Amino acid sequence: MNNIKTRFAPSPTGYLHIGGARTALFNYVYAKHNGGKFVLRIEDTDFERSEKRFEEDIIESLKWLSIIPDEETVFQSDRLSIYRSYADKLLKEDKAYYCFCSKELLEEDRNKLTSENKKPMYVGRCRELKPGEALLKTPHTIRFKVNRNTGAATGFKDLIRNQYISVNNDEIDDFVLVREDGIPTYNFAVVIDDALTGITHIIRGDDHVSNTPKQIMLYNTLGFNAPEFAHVSMILGADGKRLSKRHGATSVNQYKKEGFLPEALVNYLIRLGWSHGNDEILSMEEIIKYFDLKHISKSAAIFNTEKLLWLNSHYIKSKDPFTLIDLINDIRDDFQGALNIDIKTASLVDSLKSRAKTLVELRQKLDFFVNDAIDYKDEIFSEYSFNESNLAFLKLFRKFIEELNNEIFNCGNVDLTYKTDKENALKILKNSIESIKAGFNDFLFKNNWTMKEKAMIIRLAFSGEKVSPPIYEIIFALGKERCIQRIDKFYGCINGINNTKV
Ligand code: GLU
Repeated sequence: MNNIKTRFAPSPTGYLHIGGARTALFNYVYAKHNGGKFVLRIEDTDFERSEKRFEEDIIESLKWLSIIPDEETVFQSDRLSIYRSYADKLLKEDKAYYCFCSKELLEEDRNKLTSENKKPMYVGRCRELKPGEALLKTPHTIRFKVNRNTGAATGFKDLIRNQYISVNNDEIDDFVLVREDGIPTYNFAVVIDDALTGITHIIRGDDHVSNTPKQIMLYNTLGFNAPEFAHVSMILGADGKRLSKRHGATSVNQYKKEGFLPEALVNYLIRLGWSHGNDEILSMEEIIKYFDLKHISKSAAIFNTEKLLWLNSHYIKSKDPFTLIDLINDIRDDFQGALNIDIKTASLVDSLKSRAKTLVELRQKLDFFVNDAIDYKDEIFSEYSFNESNLAFLKLFRKFIEELNNEIFNCGNVDLTYKTDKENALKILKNSIESIKAGFNDFLFKNNWTMKEKAMIIRLAFSGEKVSPPIYEIIFALGKERCIQRIDKFYGCINGINNTKV
């Protein structure tokens, strides 16, 4: 297909919602699949509810998800004179009219119609009015003059439902185009913008299905070609109710803060309503390659946090440790401080990454490394009744650490920040860990101990936790001095005296 152009048109009245992100993604990949363009339009004409911080959040979140517009962002608030000129044109051609009915009067009309079991539509009081200048100085709206009483219907073929959806014109209200304050309504501005910016396909939530015939009427009346429409079913929570804050995180930025990777979110969102065979893991490139509207589901999608976590752990596992450190630091607001970007931190991140479902979880698992103030919990000492032989072991283990070759830890003075030689840094890291492993096994063997017997006490001494990264990796990452401090502290706790030196 040629010259495909799609758009995402959010109103900046809240943070980018997960449903909005999916709509943006569908539009983006549809355009890219067809060699077309994708644009972002901020629908900020609701001045009371629109906020700059939401606008910034939408732009940032889309960027984070790699949904990058091909043209400059359009802001509806910059285009008020354009909408006004089209309203004037419609007035002049008698296709729109001024309406002077007050809110109270409209409310009265509505109540009356409802009580008579009739559809509450505008009664047309001002439809044929020819107001003079004086009247025009009083508050008024501009309404669209629907072509009614002709038996005609207005409709469109929905590309997802694969169905023609049409409404009899008589069922369509003379809807407002311009409000009392001179601001265009959504249905009016959206048509002018989509038409003038050459949008060919509109993929949006099915909550807009009822707006589409009104918009088609405007396209026809204004002499524009109507684009194609595809309405996507909504996203529901596990309880079958519309996804909301009750179900947990709903905004993209919240997922970022909770330690989700953009690749995981994109992969998850695309599968939320679209499928490519049984493929679960899909990169943006693959999604663009395979995406089609035919395989978007007609039914509502159910949000499944477990699956998102599963995808997230997949993407965490696939990243190199230095990248993960950067990513963790990128969301560090919630944490104590930034992680050092060095080979020691990387070695731990590498071994912990397969056990963390989010970056936040990964950061928590690193806490014992970052924070020297380990709190050995009382339960440890009641669960394991450490005795003299444990103390004797700790003494020998301390000696073993002391005697480890310093070269192992300074890694021949390579650039430990990886920036100059990442590959080499990772290789040296592996060599150092292997040396510690060999030495430690030798130490156990000579003393006739097994790893199984001694792993727990070492783990507890170093981390205060029963589960930790492999011991050799901890030794390497902590370095001699910190290992010894921790052995001393743990020894002291066993003895009931804090900080007793061995
Ligand atoms: N601003 C509208 C919304 O956020 C856009 C709907 C559309 O895509 O036409 O719902």
